[in-house]
Amino acid sequence: MIAEVDKGECIGCESCPAFCPEVFKMENDGLAVAYTNPVPSDCEEAAKEAAEGCPAHCISIKDED
Ligand code: SF4
Repeated sequence: MIAEVDKGECIGCESCPAFCPEVFKMENDGLAVAYTNPVPSDCEEAAKEAAEGCPAHCISIKDED
């Protein structure tokens, strides 16, 4: 599973690292990045919750291909 943040849409709310700090972090520009890909299997549920909880709907979750 691959997580991506569309930084053009991120509003820097800091929600996603709260849900899943293993995968998401805030960068110096105040926006989030998904820094652990592929997402570790034991973090997949938390990463999905982070995506669902993103108020800007800018986290995408994809299957690896
Ligand atoms: Fe950005 Fe969404 Fe993460 Fe908030 S939850 S910091 S809007 S990617």
